[in-house]
Amino acid sequence: MNLNELKHELLKTAKSSYNLGLVAGTSGNVSVYDKETDSMIITASSVPYDTMTLEDLVVLKLDGTILEGYNQPSSEWRMHAQIYIERKDIKCVLHTHSPYATGFAVCQERIPVILIEMVPFIGGDVPVAKFGMPGTDSVGIEALKVLDDRKACLLSNHGTLAIGETIDKALTTSIYLEDAAKIYHIAKNAGNVKILSEKEINAMKNS
Ligand SMILES: [Zn+2]
Repeated sequence: MNLNELKHELLKTAKSSYNLGLVAGTSGNVSVYDKETDSMIITASSVPYDTMTLEDLVVLKLDGTILEGYNQPSSEWRMHAQIYIERKDIKCVLHTHSPYATGFAVCQERIPVILIEMVPFIGGDVPVAKFGMPGTDSVGIEALKVLDDRKACLLSNHGTLAIGETIDKALTTSIYLEDAAKIYHIAKNAGNVKILSEKEINAMKNS
């Protein structure tokens, strides 16, 4: 995909995350990394999702140099850049404030493996990254410490982070993360939660 095609995909994903209720107002942000130009395209700061256009997106180098765009990039661009610098396998970073998952982020509580979908789409349980000052690269640094082989984590007292080899995969992971958080919340209130065992998880990973 060239830069223009990536912009279309990114805009579509930003709007989907809004329409699915994973972000509210102008919260959250999403980016895609373009290997060809060693740059990323990211949503802009304070632009509403429903009226967002291709021209609102910002193209920038991983050091923050703006290559294209009239807006300021998302204030969390450093978190995105940090992940692309450290993880060459990752092409998309999606940050949301999806309500159920963010509830657990506020409690700084890990979401255990309670559903089989969490294994293929998240890579296991959902760890919690230590609080990083918003807008600084510490948000990305703390997230990388817990991500390891996971495709998602919670950002303490802030929100969620999903990473993917493609834009579609990062969105799917965010959707399954919120789904798992919602079901875990309901299950905790309904009775005794049974967490899938290491043996069952490994059996699924190898099947
Ligand atoms: Zn945020």
